[in-house]
Amino acid sequence: MNLSDKDAGILATCETLVCDLDGTLYLENEPISGAIDFVRQVMQSGRQLYYFTNNTSASRRSWLKKLTRLGFPAEDRQLITSADCAETYLKRHGLFPRIYLVGNRDLAGDFASRGFQCLSEKEALADPPAAVVLGFDTELNYDKICTCYDLILQNVPYIATHADILCPVKKNVFKPDVGSFIALFETAAGRRPVVVGKPTQEAVHSISEKSGTAIGKIAFIGDRLYTDVRMAVRSGMVSVLVLSGETNEEMLKQSMDQPQIIVPSVADLLTYIKPWDLK
Ligand SMILES: [Mg+2]
Repeated sequence: MNLSDKDAGILATCETLVCDLDGTLYLENEPISGAIDFVRQVMQSGRQLYYFTNNTSASRRSWLKKLTRLGFPAEDRQLITSADCAETYLKRHGLFPRIYLVGNRDLAGDFASRGFQCLSEKEALADPPAAVVLGFDTELNYDKICTCYDLILQNVPYIATHADILCPVKKNVFKPDVGSFIALFETAAGRRPVVVGKPTQEAVHSISEKSGTAIGKIAFIGDRLYTDVRMAVRSGMVSVLVLSGETNEEMLKQSMDQPQIIVPSVADLLTYIKPWDLK
């Protein structure tokens, strides 16, 4: 697919490109055709390339391992996760170090490496933590649900890493994500959390701080309208929607979140990534 001259021109002025992962660069364990070449081309062009995932079903270390295993060039400094946004938010608000994390063992290890003390159900109920943090807990069980519910009722500060309702597994196949858990606790306890991942301002800050790039020269490339596209449009980044993941033409038509550039996949952007100093 060819971009219009206008879209190609907009893309050419972007100094930093940030890519979502699920549905944008890969689906489950399969890189999207042309995605690895695209990432390499961006880096070789002299631009900055970042990976941003809202998915907190794994630690930073696991995401880096996965990217590398799939063939994407990835260094620690290039990765941003919604757990990073949670860490920044919690520390800025003094909600540290004792937390009750609704997350799997991998995510608990991630928070421990950031200096947090992840309490057991018993510890959290005996002496309430500074915050309850809701992540993408793939090991969620009824004890955790009850503990989280009790802490929410006690008005403990309540933060969710992201609010995506579904996580794409394969094309047109999904599993329930944190947004679905939020609905469960809202129904039970009547409270919604502070959300810190895409599309929130906290996520925008993480990107601009890490990249040091003016917002208008950042392109955010993603497959989801209400996170990736919404954040880019509202913050003033260049928004690029790929149709390789969740969104189809019909959803796009119905949506209030309208991207600047729409392509079938990142592979369609490859020929437009020219060396940065020749722009
Ligand atoms: Mg995605």
